[in-house]
Amino acid sequence: MSEILFDRLAIIGPGLIGSSIMRGARDLGLVKTVVATARSEKTRARVKELGIADAVADTNAACVKDADLVIVCVPVGASGAIAREMGPHLKPGATVSDVGSVKGAVIRDMAPHLPKGVHFIPGHPVAGTEFSGPDAGFADLFVNRWCILTPPPGTDAQALEKLTAFWRALGANVASMPADHHDLVLGITSHLPHLIAYTIVGTANELSQVTETEVLQYSAGGFRDFTRIASSDPTMWRDIFLANKDAVLEMLGRFNEDIAALTRAIRNSDGETLFKHFERTRAIRKGVLEMGQDSPTPDFGRPHPHLTEDKKK
Ligand code: NAP
Repeated sequence: MSEILFDRLAIIGPGLIGSSIMRGARDLGLVKTVVATARSEKTRARVKELGIADAVADTNAACVKDADLVIVCVPVGASGAIAREMGPHLKPGATVSDVGSVKGAVIRDMAPHLPKGVHFIPGHPVAGTEFSGPDAGFADLFVNRWCILTPPPGTDAQALEKLTAFWRALGANVASMPADHHDLVLGITSHLPHLIAYTIVGTANELSQVTETEVLQYSAGGFRDFTRIASSDPTMWRDIFLANKDAVLEMLGRFNEDIAALTRAIRNSDGETLFKHFERTRAIRKGVLEMGQDSPTPDFGRPHPHLTEDKKK
């Protein structure tokens, strides 16, 4: 058991990320009590059934009452409305955080509704899967993943230290950076790759004469990995692109220039340019592996138990 860092943890939005925090915090004894609430009665009932919270509240206001740490885990477009609802009910001295994949827009939308005396420290655990909802979460989702905190200037050092300790205890590496820098970095490492996956899977689908057969049949050739990414939650990703518009457009501009250069190399049969480029990108993959951010196994660290089982038969 670890040290108790917060008496009462409130999770608003016990989906993949929220329920993973709840499971981890309870398993490790980082908090005394976990209370959760969700928008729908269905999710609230499911959280009760799963037994992953000590209490399930019907409203955001009731959920945050007396909480020492509140983590908002909803799609980024919904965070402002949540802050407005919970603001007047927050305990003085409480820490409020979130897990949204975009930080500038979340700060803009949430901060005005949070009372003085509450420590607002936005965060983003760079961990996840393509699955959603309270059933999808698991306690060690954050192990060896980064959690980026974007404390606004003047953030209370003790509150920051405590939140950092909480994420470290969940297994994450913690980094702090300004929100606009976060949005630029994640624009290229996460948002643009998702946009490319959404585009390519859509393009293939429009080639309707092959979609039903060859595209799916031969998907292990690379397409398969795009379909996994492109199956991520539509609400969450709509909100991310709307909230991080400027950074995504900036990255998209650079990407378009680079793809134009590779297009030209192919058209000109310029093998040297292609080879040099691929050599450079292969080295980047090596760096990702060396940093422990993925596995070199052919399934990219995501085993397919049923396939393994089938092979055994
Ligand atoms: P999720 O599994 O779909 O869960 C979302 C939760 O938010 C659910 O409890 C849902 O309640 C609630 N919710 C949805 N829309 C809402 C609204 N308009 N108002 C109030 N509550 C609402 O999502 P998730 O994957 O955990 O993502 C949550 C946040 O984490 C997002 O901001 C996302 O950007 C960020 N994030 C996600 C990942 C990832 O890989 N998935 C990684 C890092 C960060 P109901 O079930 O009742 O609808």
